[in-house]
Amino acid sequence: MEHNIEILIIEDDSKVRNLMKTTMKANGYRYITSENGENGIMEVASHKPDIILLDLGLPDLDGIKVIEKIRTWTNTPIIVLSARNEDEDKIEALDAGADDYLTKPFSVDELMARIRVTERRLEYMTTSSGEESVFVNGALRIDYSAAEVCVEGKELHLTPIEYKLVCIFSKNLGKVLTHTYITKEVWGQCTESNVASMRVYMANLRKKIEGDARRIQYIQTHIGIGYRMLKIDNSNESVESST
Ligand code: CA
Repeated sequence: MEHNIEILIIEDDSKVRNLMKTTMKANGYRYITSENGENGIMEVASHKPDIILLDLGLPDLDGIKVIEKIRTWTNTPIIVLSARNEDEDKIEALDAGADDYLTKPFSVDELMARIRVTERRLEYMTTSSGEESVFVNGALRIDYSAAEVCVEGKELHLTPIEYKLVCIFSKNLGKVLTHTYITKEVWGQCTESNVASMRVYMANLRKKIEGDARRIQYIQTHIGIGYRMLKIDNSNESVESST
């Protein structure tokens, strides 16, 4: 299957880079590669890739710096690659503007799942201006002007904080949002008690949106990191479970 997108791989480890190249080739994606941060930033500017896979541990530049530089001029989705037990790095990368993360070592299936989720985010980013008054994702519909949320045509009764939360997710569809980001958006600051409250509100919100049957998972939990609203693929109403 051919895809009309190009992926930039920024990774200094040749083994990992080769695995990613092989995977891209096998799945019909075009790709370009970079072995360091400075060159990677140049490739983003000159090639304008559609998705960026970025290793956080690069020889020349800190991966976070690479994200910050790229984010000064483009919203191209960035998936960071980082080692296990480095949640802090992932959180920092997400807060710097990365969209998603992949934990090393990862399988080819995990890599492809992340790319498909990001492709759907990309599709949404290119078809929506972010200024629409109505948001639709699968059976979920938010009318921002009326502050009304419906699932399968039925209005949900959300508390003001639950409504604020669902709007934060819809405005960042497909992107992993950290606890820090979410609590700052809702309460203005990230304290331990805000994070604890957020978890409770999130559990209630998910129950209301997804129901007990959990037929469609709209919101994905990233333990220790945050949450993401997935773009529902209308063609088969299924979602990737990529955690
Ligand atoms: Ca590395």
